[in-house]
Amino acid sequence: MNRNGRAELLMDSPLTTTSREKLEAWLRYYEDLNLGGFYTDRRTMGKLLEKTAAAQAAARASAAGKVVAADRGAEPVKVAAPVEVAAPAKVAVPAPVLPLVSAESLFEAIDRVENDSLERIREDLGECTRCRLSKQRNKIVFGQGNPRAELVFVGEGPGHDEDMQGLAFVGRAGKLLTQMIEAMGLRREDVYICNVVKCRPPENRKPEDDEVATCSPYLFRQLDVIAPKAVVCLGGTAAQALLKTKDSISRFRGTWFDYRGTKLLATYHPAYLLRNPAAKADVWKDLQKVMAHLGLKAKKASN
Ligand code: URA
Repeated sequence: MNRNGRAELLMDSPLTTTSREKLEAWLRYYEDLNLGGFYTDRRTMGKLLEKTAAAQAAARASAAGKVVAADRGAEPVKVAAPVEVAAPAKVAVPAPVLPLVSAESLFEAIDRVENDSLERIREDLGECTRCRLSKQRNKIVFGQGNPRAELVFVGEGPGHDEDMQGLAFVGRAGKLLTQMIEAMGLRREDVYICNVVKCRPPENRKPEDDEVATCSPYLFRQLDVIAPKAVVCLGGTAAQALLKTKDSISRFRGTWFDYRGTKLLATYHPAYLLRNPAAKADVWKDLQKVMAHLGLKAKKASN
């Protein structure tokens, strides 16, 4: 444990065989998701695995009273013929969620605002003109719902109806989102709903990278203040903004991630479901994972 009570990998300690297998599986998992390069220094991990293998060989040889080289370039060490092999040092194995943004990152230290509140974030946003989206918007769509929600939905950006009303997800996609929320046994008022960008992109185009970069710090602050138990990203734009990846949603949909200590899962956007109703089955599977995490039971169909 480090001083903040967090488990950390002891880079200089030998790993047990099980821990080593877990660590290798963990690295393969990163590799499969194409995310490893962002968060893992492979050179260090590679050395750790080499070191572990060497330590295990040493332990085996030591049990047999053999001479082994403890590390590449090191003098061979004569191990006295012991009967007992010392128990390997304890190693904390990472939880099976991806620590995409660790709590101790510089990122978080910079982004967290002391004594923040939704009111203060809204005030800081003001009548925002920080990016070109402000030019054609009618209303800023800050986000709405329960400020202490256990579940937050994050969409891409307001559409026409949202821009007119200043409320997130109130158009056709919003109605489908309401059905999804109710199928989970919740009401819209129970959750918090917001977007990556707070102004409608013209012609409902995807927000540009610089627009996302300008607006998303307000979203990060909203999530920090609400501190939900789960964040559900609706569509690729939200997931890419929060997980800092360019990968397509199809690569990680339905998988739990760790976002600054909160569980985050991405699923398809309701607007996509309106065009591809067959994908609703996948979304329902994803929402059931969220329900299990929140301890929710599906609403029984009324006769
Ligand atoms: N689509 C979104 O991503 N957000 C909304 O608020 C409405 C539609």
